[in-house]
Amino acid sequence: SPSANGPFTVVLLGDSGVGKSALASIFAGAADSMDIDCELYGGDICEQNVMVDGETATVSLLDTWETQDEDSCSQERCLQSGDAYIIVYSITDRSSFLRASELRIRLRRVRQADHTPIILVGNKCDLVRCREVSVSEGRSCAAVFDCKFIETSAAMQHNVWPLFEGIVRQLRLRRDSA
Ligand code: GDP
Ligand code: MG
Repeated sequence: SPSANGPFTVVLLGDSGVGKSALASIFAGAADSMDIDCELYGGDICEQNVMVDGETATVSLLDTWETQDEDSCSQERCLQSGDAYIIVYSITDRSSFLRASELRIRLRRVRQADHTPIILVGNKCDLVRCREVSVSEGRSCAAVFDCKFIETSAAMQHNVWPLFEGIVRQLRLRRDSA
């Protein structure tokens, strides 16, 4: 049975171009990672041991969302396969922010009434002059949709590890109370 230290499956969701693969490659760049070509999902999966609060947790990060065929049930499977979800938008692209809300609604439909950890991520926060979504809009969207919120910059490696650590903490809390 799954312990408080995993293995946990964490799924990246979000529009094309928002930085999902950039975040995934920072995750994969840490020591002793293992890239797995998984035929079931047809995309990139990286399994990693991460040290959080003095304890090691095993996380499999799935960057497989965009390889799913929209007309098939594979997207639904993707929405059902996670222990936690990272919904990414770009702060420079309002349409990706609206898309993030749609994804949150879809996720809620598929994962009714369970307390799956979800974090809304406003990526590309280094691009201050191109900002289309304010921090407070991101924060209040997360409040409405009952999830955590963080702004990151994969380019500057800003807040990326706090993002993954936050997910592990949420997963542990949930396992502890299960
Ligand atoms: P994906 O389609 O969601 O996987 O997005 P990618 O990771 O492929 O990123 C799309 C583009 O945005 C690439 O050119 C990245 O280099 C760029 N990008 C990703 N994250 C950031 C970021 O935090 N800041 C900036 N300035 N560019 C980024
Ligand atoms: Mg990608």
